[in-house]
Amino acid sequence: MKQPQKCVAVIGGGPAGLMAAEVLARGGAHVEVFDAMPSVGRKFLMAGKGGMNITHAEDFDIFLTRYGARREHIEPLLRAFPPDALRAWIHDLGITTFVGTSHRVFPADMKAAPLLRAWLHRLRESGVIFHARHRWCGWDEQGALRFATPHGELRMNPENPLAETSPPPCRGRVREGVETLPLSISTPIRACVVGASAPYNHGLPLAGATFPLQGGRSGFGSNGFFEMKADAVVLALGGGSWPQLGSDGAWVTLLEQRGITIAPLRPSNCGFEIAWSAHFREHFSGEPLKSVAATFGDVRKQGECLISAHGIEGGLIYALSAALRDEIERKGHATLHLDLLPDWTMQKVQNEVSHPRGARSLSSHLQSRLGLKGVKANLLREVLSAEQMHDTNLLAHTIKALPLRLIAPRPLSEAISSAGGVTFAALDKNLMLKELPGVFCAGEMLDWEAPTGGYLLSACFASGYVAGKGATDWLKHPSGDGRQ
Ligand SMILES: Cc1cc2nc3c(=O)[nH]c(=O)nc-3n(C[C@H](O)[C@H](O)[C@H](O)COP(=O)(O)OP(=O)(O)OC[C@H]3O[C@@H](n4cnc5c(N)ncnc54)[C@H](O)[C@@H]3O)c2cc1C
Repeated sequence: MKQPQKCVAVIGGGPAGLMAAEVLARGGAHVEVFDAMPSVGRKFLMAGKGGMNITHAEDFDIFLTRYGARREHIEPLLRAFPPDALRAWIHDLGITTFVGTSHRVFPADMKAAPLLRAWLHRLRESGVIFHARHRWCGWDEQGALRFATPHGELRMNPENPLAETSPPPCRGRVREGVETLPLSISTPIRACVVGASAPYNHGLPLAGATFPLQGGRSGFGSNGFFEMKADAVVLALGGGSWPQLGSDGAWVTLLEQRGITIAPLRPSNCGFEIAWSAHFREHFSGEPLKSVAATFGDVRKQGECLISAHGIEGGLIYALSAALRDEIERKGHATLHLDLLPDWTMQKVQNEVSHPRGARSLSSHLQSRLGLKGVKANLLREVLSAEQMHDTNLLAHTIKALPLRLIAPRPLSEAISSAGGVTFAALDKNLMLKELPGVFCAGEMLDWEAPTGGYLLSACFASGYVAGKGATDWLKHPSGDGRQ
């Protein structure tokens, strides 16, 4: 006898959730994707605004080192879905990729929208159903998933699952905030219950319960009702950065209430606060600092950053941000050293600084002999007194290693990504929660971090792939408690 199709709720329509949905649909499951926002993939689209860096073409062994202390947990995920497989998957969507000079991998037009559009089309073709504006709010006392929607909370009433009144349909093109895509979003389910195996469905009439739909949908009964038997959940709710794009970290409390250990969410790839003088802040906020090198500890990186009203930010700073953040947590501050002339030797700088300047002002001397003006010259004045500026030895050393005292990371909401999240100790190798069998987690909501450079998305896709595979296997053999 043919087995009824198993149903999985994927909550969170970012790259991790969508990848899990694809793997599950390919594995034969009926997949329903829920997202709190009016459209899915908003952070993914935002990542494509400045040039979507989707993965990295460096040697895989070096690639793995980017996950630092979490390498042992991320490595198996990336081995299951490595960067080469990710690129092949993108090509399969009809999107070509290229490798930049830095070995970063980009889609041909640097954008995320064409990729997401093709992907959503393929997902819909494979039967995945999307429910926008469905905010997951946890479980009720009986273990039913609860969603808040603009039409009120949708929550199964075990006594009377058909008691809800009909919500209006949610269909069509939605444009809000960042770029969105036309989604033919299915009519929202009025009540969704995912009977994710024991202990959630214990004693509840989940399997075979009928739920009303507003309007009809192909594959469903003409009376507007359908039978939903959902058997597993994938949570892919993102981290806590850029909450306006959907991932606001509100899930932390929901999982903690279920006894799941969560490492606190912290900013990663973030800017830092510096107590600039009022004059410097007023005149140089927003100024780029080009061709500088930053050193913290024994790590030196060359690149660009930006002076902000609060301090400093940009790619060069993000690259060192995890270590800087940790140092601030330990000591209350961190000192970063900037080399304003990274291509000059100390000797050359000393020679030029010491060169007789005659009647010229120090400012003109720095500009004419060393090319230091504007924000770079004023950074020197920010850290040296007028008297110290005339100490040629000190001035030369400061040009090569200008100390910046960072006093705090900028808030998580401004960071590119989050550190912290569901700890790997709470998960089995398939990313199933040991305490909540049948519930899988993927993406940035897991406790790892990585620098920018395509490493974030690579691990999100890979974890979505592994969670999707794990849930597919779980549907076939829903036994064990995930502790193996
Ligand atoms: C400006 C910017 C640029 C970036 N550029 C890059 C880049 O070039 N390369 C790179 O590798 N990475 C980049 N990233 C990081 C990358 O976009 C993220 O790491 C990635 O999107 C995380 O994927 P995810 O699926 O785990 O979570 P998300 O993409 O955050 O998706 C989570 C989804 O869950 C939904 N959700 C959350 N809570 C609920 C709830 N309670 N109920 C229902 N739905 C919920 C959200 O609405 C969201 O759609 C960038 C990030 C930013 C902010």
